[in-house]
Amino acid sequence: TRWVYSFGGGGADGEAGMKNLLGGKGANLAEMAKLGLPVPPGFTVTTEACVHYYANGKQYPAELAEQVNAGLAKVEQITGKTFGDTANPLLVSVRSGARASMPGMMDTVLNLGLNDETVSGLAKLSGDERFAFDSYRRFIQMYSNVVLDLDHHMFEEILDDHKDSLGVSVDTALTADNWKAVVADYKTAVARELGRPFPQDPQEQLWGAIGAVFASWMNDRAKFYRRMHDIPEAWGTAVNIQSMVFGNMGDSSATGVAFTRNPSTGDNRLYGEFLINAQGEDVVAGIRTPQSLTKVAREEMGDVAPSMEEALPEVFGQFRDVAIKLEAHYRDMQDVEFTVEQGRLWMLQTRNGKRTAKAALKIAVEMAEGGVITREEAVARVEPAALDQLLHPTIDPSAERDVVAKGLPASPGAATGKVVFDADEAEKLGSAGEAVILVREETSPEDIHGMHAARGIITARGGMTSHAAVVARGMGRPCVSGAGEIGIYPKEGLFRVRGREFKAGDIVTIDGSTGEVLSGSVKMIEPELTGDFAQLMEWADGVRRLKVRANAETPLDAKTARGFGAEGIGLCRTEHMFFDDTRIAAVREMILADDEAGRRAALAKIAPFQKADFVELFTIMEGLPVTVRLLDPPLHEFLPHSEADLAAVAAATGLDAAKLMRRARELHETNPMLGHRGCRLGVSYPEIYEMQVRAIIEAACEIAKSGKPAPVPEIMHPLVAKGEEMKFLRALTDRTAKAVLAEQGVELEYQVGTMIELPRAALRAADLAEAGAEFFSFGTNDLTQTTFGISRDDAGKFLGAYIDKGIFEKDPFVSLDQEGVGDLVRIAAERGRAVKSGLKLGICGEHGGDPASIQFCEQVGLDYVSCSPFRVPIARLAAAQAAL
Ligand code: ADP
Ligand code: MG
Ligand code: MG
Repeated sequence: TRWVYSFGGGGADGEAGMKNLLGGKGANLAEMAKLGLPVPPGFTVTTEACVHYYANGKQYPAELAEQVNAGLAKVEQITGKTFGDTANPLLVSVRSGARASMPGMMDTVLNLGLNDETVSGLAKLSGDERFAFDSYRRFIQMYSNVVLDLDHHMFEEILDDHKDSLGVSVDTALTADNWKAVVADYKTAVARELGRPFPQDPQEQLWGAIGAVFASWMNDRAKFYRRMHDIPEAWGTAVNIQSMVFGNMGDSSATGVAFTRNPSTGDNRLYGEFLINAQGEDVVAGIRTPQSLTKVAREEMGDVAPSMEEALPEVFGQFRDVAIKLEAHYRDMQDVEFTVEQGRLWMLQTRNGKRTAKAALKIAVEMAEGGVITREEAVARVEPAALDQLLHPTIDPSAERDVVAKGLPASPGAATGKVVFDADEAEKLGSAGEAVILVREETSPEDIHGMHAARGIITARGGMTSHAAVVARGMGRPCVSGAGEIGIYPKEGLFRVRGREFKAGDIVTIDGSTGEVLSGSVKMIEPELTGDFAQLMEWADGVRRLKVRANAETPLDAKTARGFGAEGIGLCRTEHMFFDDTRIAAVREMILADDEAGRRAALAKIAPFQKADFVELFTIMEGLPVTVRLLDPPLHEFLPHSEADLAAVAAATGLDAAKLMRRARELHETNPMLGHRGCRLGVSYPEIYEMQVRAIIEAACEIAKSGKPAPVPEIMHPLVAKGEEMKFLRALTDRTAKAVLAEQGVELEYQVGTMIELPRAALRAADLAEAGAEFFSFGTNDLTQTTFGISRDDAGKFLGAYIDKGIFEKDPFVSLDQEGVGDLVRIAAERGRAVKSGLKLGICGEHGGDPASIQFCEQVGLDYVSCSPFRVPIARLAAAQAAL
């Protein structure tokens, strides 16, 4: 088997299409080499080698050592340097690179091959002893951290001690002798911690680093990132071993990162940051504040330091050409990493750049309009879930802003929350439902869980491409980075800025679109869904087959849903219309009634409310279909819980309190989710469902009579399991509806159907269709509960363990279990349609807004998905992508 693919020196064994084998980084390094771009030569150890490693008790494939040596020999030949040679040493970087980019998730080692002897060789060769020892100290720190698992703080403390005693504050102020002293202290510290000296043998270093890259595939950060982005563990990572080029060789050297367009706004302008006389991670780590790439950007930011365009004009020109060439070649916005070694440009990475939803829309629409990509490609390019960022509020421009600090607009959107200084604390409060803003000096991959739990992020250091900025944009969290005026004192639990003090727990608001930090909470406004958004949605609507409806019962939700383009209501939960204070008393009276007469008396009080609600809903929906689900919840949800509640019901109804108490006790159920709920209520107390059907049909008649577009109400019976139940409910519905229509003298269509939320209902779908169901709506929340026998309300306690142990890939309540629950959906669809070919099929569980589940609904041939109003645009786009 071939485990190693070479690149550089004017060609490559691999290419961009080989991401599965070479990882994204390796495949694109090969592609750039093939394009004739300046890429330092190197080779890629395949992802298959990583998979092999884990499948065989962490053993490398037998031929690997030989192939790595051959790859290294090729690099030596191209560069004219020799790995481990004391006079002319080849140094390499060891870089991880999975199929999907996992920025900052995995660890990279630079300057590998340095030891006490080769460092002198490097010094002589470059004529720059300072550079050589700067590189060596970087190597010792990175290698010790990544491979030897030593804490990086130890090294930072040593360096800080040196700086303190030298009275300097920046790394660039250290001389060759200073770095030598730092290196000596580093080595002493490593030997002390490890009980053996820092490894001097380059071969040992190389294999240690390869092993560490493989190991990093299984570290907690990588696991967390994979889970968040649905990346399978089975993919493994590739390892790239590449000859070093040096951005830290003086003032004509530099390192930088760039996007071919602005990743935050989508503006078609080169965008990025660089640092002179620096290496690798310096830019993204936020150690020094980086400089702008272009003159325009420098002016806009009001930076003092010159841009790359001004400082290194010639090599900047070359770089700009390469960026244009790469974007045209990949037909997408590129995120590139480069280094300039003594005036010479080297490309170290390119990939399709991560972007905000706003930028994604703009870039996709502009590229399609410019004929670079097709409209279908534009639709396919925008990740549906990312639209969420655009559907949420921003700060009202007319609101008063008490600006306390300004940083960079690193990730758009606004958020308000309590100040928190620690990622673990953010996670703790966040999972308890608190809105928090994570405030950090800078962030590192160890903070990911806290960033995820926070509503927004503020950092005091770091640029637009710092870790915080990149990760926040990816997650859709608003972020202000590099707010340098803020002084953070985590130990005292506060930050100070412009003479003010904010403690942990104080409320702040951030505006990620302007970079402002505001005191207190600020009025927000709803998003505008025009421009690029509307254009892409129009293209999406042109390709999708699935209809998209919303789950809504309040007028506000219904209006929001229509604003987002919902084509009807797929689920109107009538019990939600009962929780209102004035109504709940009547509902309680109805439930606690001893007999039918008592129930009917109470129902008569509820009926007018119900009817009025439906009139309002039908009016808003203007003739679009509305599925109304009849009363479903366990009765106890409505019961008075306290003595005071009970007394209030007694007073309101004139019923005896003691009697009410007894009745409440009678209604208690051991397992209410499997108890007296759903259509079981309609079967035992038909008068409840009769009242509801009557209210629906009367409302529809009223609309029809007024001349407005009349709806076709879809009356839905919940929790049906048997054909006989359906038959009974169908008859009840028809009898009541016909009576109303006759009274009103109106002709009106309506439909009767059922939710499918029990395995028996799915299996016996033919019976239900035969018994008169005209539509099925898959209630996949309950269907998931009843199929797995897992209570949704209690699953939180153990689902985490199931996901950690790999038993569940995803929470089945979030993304449909396509194998099991999905099988039931498929069976029900087939068996139902076999009896009734025009049977209408939809889904109304939480899954109706989940892109992967929508893909499944398309495959099974459902007619529509229904989801919460805010997810409607996401569902529209996901449905379009599913149809492509
Ligand atoms: P990540 O995936 O976290 O971006 P990379 O493997 O891209 O990690 O490495 C991070 C940085 O290290 C690169 O952006 C680049 O600046 C630097 N780097 C990596 N390999 C080399 C190399 N061969 N020569 C010079 N710098 C390198
Ligand atoms: Mg990189
Ligand atoms: Mg249900």
